[in-house]
Amino acid sequence: MTTPVRVRFAPSPTGTLHVGGARTAIYNWAFARKSGGTFILRIDDTDPERSTAENTAQILRSLTWLGIDWDEGPEVGGEYGPYFQTQRADNYRAALETMKANGTAYPCFCSAETLEGKREAARQSGSGISGYDRTCRALTAEDAAARVEAGEPHVWRLAVPLDHGPVVVDDAVRGLTEFPIEAMDDFVLARTDGTPTYNFATVIDDADMEISHVIRGDDHLANTPRQILVFEALGHTVPRFAHLSMIWGPDGKKLSKRHGATSVEAYDEMGYLPEALLNYLALLGWSLDGETTIVPADVLKANFSLERISKNPAIFDIDKLEWMNGSYIRDMSADELISRLLPWLERAGLATAADVEARHDWFVALIPLVAERLKHLDEIAPMVRFLFEEPEIDEASLAKVLRKEGAGTALSAVAEALKACDWSSAAIEETLRGVPETIGLKPKVVFQAVRVAATGSTVSPPLFESLELLGRARSLARIQAAHELATT
Ligand code: GLU
Repeated sequence: MTTPVRVRFAPSPTGTLHVGGARTAIYNWAFARKSGGTFILRIDDTDPERSTAENTAQILRSLTWLGIDWDEGPEVGGEYGPYFQTQRADNYRAALETMKANGTAYPCFCSAETLEGKREAARQSGSGISGYDRTCRALTAEDAAARVEAGEPHVWRLAVPLDHGPVVVDDAVRGLTEFPIEAMDDFVLARTDGTPTYNFATVIDDADMEISHVIRGDDHLANTPRQILVFEALGHTVPRFAHLSMIWGPDGKKLSKRHGATSVEAYDEMGYLPEALLNYLALLGWSLDGETTIVPADVLKANFSLERISKNPAIFDIDKLEWMNGSYIRDMSADELISRLLPWLERAGLATAADVEARHDWFVALIPLVAERLKHLDEIAPMVRFLFEEPEIDEASLAKVLRKEGAGTALSAVAEALKACDWSSAAIEETLRGVPETIGLKPKVVFQAVRVAATGSTVSPPLFESLELLGRARSLARIQAAHELATT
């Protein structure tokens, strides 16, 4: 019988969700979905000083925004809860009792100063071993019990089984790694105040939640042999591990703020689509077939496998993400894109949902003009503002285009020609293409003058389609006004 797949993403709410954390979440989620397993969200909030409820809320929001749903965890509950480490103290206490009883945990009374002195002495001796020297492990059981009973401050340490032989981590991504048992120190399981350390709490939770696979960043690789020893001390099955290589910036250094935005939320605020970011992050260290770049969530969920995770560090390349975002934007239906753009138009004060409803066809006609040009959604307001508000003609365009020889003539000829033409982009194009020859000017002079007149700038979406969307009355009024500017 195979054990059911149960995986978890266990962020510490000490900050917002980082793209690296998001990738870990995506892999766990995709693996659970592919194997018909359970994806658990657990909040590792044992660091009381740095964990906040806002960060937790923020992490949940970012995951939801990305389209990642969890089967057990905050907000949804589940049979293995609670899903916040701070609410699981009873579980840690119970596990520690088991380890006390079977002799795999012992109390250590060494003070912080004593320990610092020992560390210093170890450094000086150059032995290379800096772990605890196991002084208190030598106490008799009676002695130790009496001192605990008397209320002497103490921590609880793991009694590393010295005859264990190397601890073998059989990692799904990295293969076999052996850690010599001599390198394992009797690390602290529970602190003086009774709170569990990360390496202890994590194992108890993974064991109690029956986690089958631990998929996480390889910054935890050094913790893994220690965690395996705790699983074994408690007689639990050790889960299968898969350690993901780090994400690097383009300079080959660990991705950090220096490289630009690292939080998922920042990408939302910059106008990235969640499905594009999900796709991009999924391919940072995993591939469908080594070449397909567009892997939407449903394909990911149907095909994800641990075998195709790469050992090599992945490079976060914002240009690729931007390209991917543009690609998702272009492939969207007009109605879908309108609904994604609406919040940006609303925030810029350009349009409301009621406007979209009232002029639905107009908005649908706008989409082909912008879809090709948008790399992210935040670019929409500056791109289409001229369609909603009277443009201000910038100084440069005024000097470079409208005040140039011929601009006045061109604009009055264009105004005349447009008065009678059909108001479709095709008819507008045909009409405007006829103007330069009639008045003996270069097409560029004419078209640039019209573009500046109608849009306020020399850079805009396609001219004829823009004029069509602007309507005849507004187009002519702007051309008139620009004509006045050109000739005064
Ligand atoms: N809370 C830990 C972290 O955010 C979890 C590590 C793990 O997955 O065990 O790094």
